[in-house]
Amino acid sequence: MTIFNLGSINIDHVYRLSALPRAGETLHAQSYAQGLGGKGANQSVAAARAGARVRHLGAMGLAEDWVLDRLAAAGVETAGIARLPEVATGHAIILVDAAGENSIVLHGGANLALPADLPRRAGFAAGDMLLMQNETSLQAETAARARAAGVRVLYSAAPFRIEALAAVLPHVSILAVNAIEARETFAAFGEDLPVEALLITRGAEGAEYRDLRRGQVWHQPAFAVRAVDTTGAGDCFAGWFAAGLSRGEDPPTALRHAAAAAALQVTRPGAGDAMPDRAEVLEFLK
Ligand code: ATP
Repeated sequence: MTIFNLGSINIDHVYRLSALPRAGETLHAQSYAQGLGGKGANQSVAAARAGARVRHLGAMGLAEDWVLDRLAAAGVETAGIARLPEVATGHAIILVDAAGENSIVLHGGANLALPADLPRRAGFAAGDMLLMQNETSLQAETAARARAAGVRVLYSAAPFRIEALAAVLPHVSILAVNAIEARETFAAFGEDLPVEALLITRGAEGAEYRDLRRGQVWHQPAFAVRAVDTTGAGDCFAGWFAAGLSRGEDPPTALRHAAAAAALQVTRPGAGDAMPDRAEVLEFLK
């Protein structure tokens, strides 16, 4: 069984400066670093490091082959990533000042220009799983096609937009939200959502999984660690949880592994590059 992930691929350009530039001002950066980001790529890496067979569905420009190499090195299948001429790979320009305050410019680029035949060519088969977040085009189309093929759809509704959630909700099996997104979702749609289950993460307060069909709820406390960078914690959790379910783990086991993985992830700087592998998580849980 395969986890497909319809997801964004971003290149993060991180510039450190003493202060953020004001309008009209030019400043020299003190340092520059480039990394792989995007909620989609982060979740693909997390699920692959968790041991799942992951096929990423997405798009990028013609340059920057290192991105594909990085995904492949993490164990992600990249044949479902279209290369688009004359479209920029999605990217984020991240400015960080001495106090850690940031300003970010995000350009969706190829993530928002996915080829229309992507859902048809994905190759979904009954028993597979589809992950999605809210940083690409074609979400509802791909989810509808996946569900029709007997594929379970796990949707992380982030970055949160009510209209995007409303469009995909009829095709979602498991809805994954953080505490703030959960509040907004309940305010808009009520708590009796038309999905199989709800995964709610609450940062250092842990996570819960509500099986709405069976009326069962499991709670998972967060593991106590010294967090240095929580960017991508939600993506780590979602990728690991999906990998657990796809290998047939019951919800409490998948929750425990995902919480351990996310705890390790927040102790390291970075997002995708900080995702732990299965050996590390099993060692942490010993
Ligand atoms: P992000 O947007 O930063 O990726 P998120 O808001 O989607 O995160 P959170 O609910 O903050 O997701 O975190 C997801 C999971 O990661 C939590 O349920 C928890 O298991 C783990 N986690 C997050 N922060 C911490 C922390 N400080 N210590 C331990 N575990 C944490």
